[in-house]
Amino acid sequence: MTDDKDNFFDQDLADLKLLLTSWGEPDYRADQIWSGIYQGLKDGPDRISNIPKSLRAKIRERFTFGSLAPETSLYSKDHQTEKTLFRLVDDQAIETVLMYYEKRRTLCISTQSGCAMGCVFCATGQMGFRRNLTSGEIVEQVMYFARQLKESDESLTNIVIMGMGEPFHNYKETLAAVDRLNHPTGMNLGARRFTISTVGLIPEILRFADDHRQVNLAVSLHAADDKLRSSMLPINRKYPLDELIDACREYVKMTHRRITFEWALIHNINDTIEQASTLANLLRGLICHVNIIPLNPTDGYSGKATTMEHARIFQAELKRHGIPCTIRVRRGIEIQAGCGQLASVKV
Ligand code: SAH
Ligand code: SF4
Repeated sequence: MTDDKDNFFDQDLADLKLLLTSWGEPDYRADQIWSGIYQGLKDGPDRISNIPKSLRAKIRERFTFGSLAPETSLYSKDHQTEKTLFRLVDDQAIETVLMYYEKRRTLCISTQSGCAMGCVFCATGQMGFRRNLTSGEIVEQVMYFARQLKESDESLTNIVIMGMGEPFHNYKETLAAVDRLNHPTGMNLGARRFTISTVGLIPEILRFADDHRQVNLAVSLHAADDKLRSSMLPINRKYPLDELIDACREYVKMTHRRITFEWALIHNINDTIEQASTLANLLRGLICHVNIIPLNPTDGYSGKATTMEHARIFQAELKRHGIPCTIRVRRGIEIQAGCGQLASVKV
């Protein structure tokens, strides 16, 4: 960490209380700092007016409040999508995407720089794995955009953990970040506002079910038979479809929560009626929703997006089998801010 300081956003309130107690400060000072940063969205201790100046200085010396350096921000033509590249302290980089919908302000955050899963159509997978983010680096992405929105009297409504990286490959830090953002005297972002998307790591899906959080779960499927899925998502060789769907059934049974499946439609690859009906069979009786999205282009993959016409036929087939399904609109494609387009090739 810069200047040997710890990242403030890596701390829980309990850690902060312990530290302040060791400094001989009363407990409520930690609460004041915590709510100043997370509720008041102050960018450092100097702006928290209800704590003494001497304590502000001590906190400033002990912690850094900005380990993410915003480097470039790009805006889609319609200004409804904004993508920011952040430089990390060790010179790695991540990207974060803010999407404006009618009433929603949805932030898509990263959990790793790069990704080890190697899905062939994903720009993050194509760049390979760099490193896990700390919980603080995950939290800071949210703080940055929460502060930005506050300037126009707005706030974040939803957080999707669907940016760079596989969140369940960095389980502990990702869930620690969710809990910190969820904290009632801090940001207080309700667990239901979060969605975690996984490529299908079975042990972590079961662990997540066991954790009984209110956080939404999405699983990236993209193919309904092992041969096709393994050719697109290498992790399928380790966690094949039948076992994955069994784990999803277990998740629904344990949590009573609906699961979302993601499917990027690729022309002539996974957009056939056969794939749709095999998928419907696979998901029979499972409380779920399928999100289909035409593939976003990436440099390292030659497959093409399905046409809207084909997407509708695919959707109709799923619906015929009683599987709830929505076609998602692509966002921010021209600034490479769409699903699977995040990468930081400059590093
Ligand atoms: N690693 C997690 C979350 C990040 S990827 C996961 O794989 O689920 C977020 C979503 O974007 C996933 O559903 C992923 O399959 C999808 N995706 C990746 N590349 C894409 C592309 N080129 N077009 C459309 N969706 C893509
Ligand atoms: Fe990683 Fe998800 Fe991209 Fe696959 S789709 S390479 S798991 S970020």
